[in-house]
Amino acid sequence: MERDIQEVLLSEEQIQARIKELGEILTEEYRDKNPIILGVLKGVAIFYADMIRQIKVPCQMDFMCISSYKGTSSTGNTNIRLDLAADIRGRHVLILEDIYDTGNSLTYLVNYLKMKEPASLKICTLLDKPEGRKPGVTLKADYVGFTIPKAFVVGYGLDYNEAYRNLPYVGILKPEVYT
Ligand code: 5GP
Ligand code: MG
Repeated sequence: MERDIQEVLLSEEQIQARIKELGEILTEEYRDKNPIILGVLKGVAIFYADMIRQIKVPCQMDFMCISSYKGTSSTGNTNIRLDLAADIRGRHVLILEDIYDTGNSLTYLVNYLKMKEPASLKICTLLDKPEGRKPGVTLKADYVGFTIPKAFVVGYGLDYNEAYRNLPYVGILKPEVYT
């Protein structure tokens, strides 16, 4: 598995340290707000589990599964595979995402959730790839773990054809693996 990785971009230690920092900020932000913390599956699973334990306030967990990716490129066609369970009207919602790339998924998701009239809606993404953004996408993540260059990364929840999710770090996949 590891021999398919060209370079470790973010080590386990770097990721955990950043999650602690974000946790302190989010703990302040959501004190007394009983937020719904909404994970976007499946990529966020590992980040979600680590992140939510650093947000030290009462909260509710929920998940959605949306898909737009095939292989290493976004198809632009987003669809909901699993809808959220909670009623978010009047609630504070924090979306946790693995990576913000073209903006297709998050733009779709934010528009969908806004129709349900939450009290507030914020986005926390572990990774941001601003160079991947589709022209015209203006949405910004409120909290970003790391800004990364335009490379296809795997590990720490992120997959290529469902593999590599359980690597404890984020690495750049060797191009020959997917070409
Ligand atoms: P967007 O809709 O912003 O293009 O992409 C969001 C989704 O695409 C992410 O939640 C993730 O599943 C997938 N994605 C985007 N960039 C990468 C990447 O570099 N590696 C992997 N494994 N998935 C990515
Ligand atoms: Mg994803």
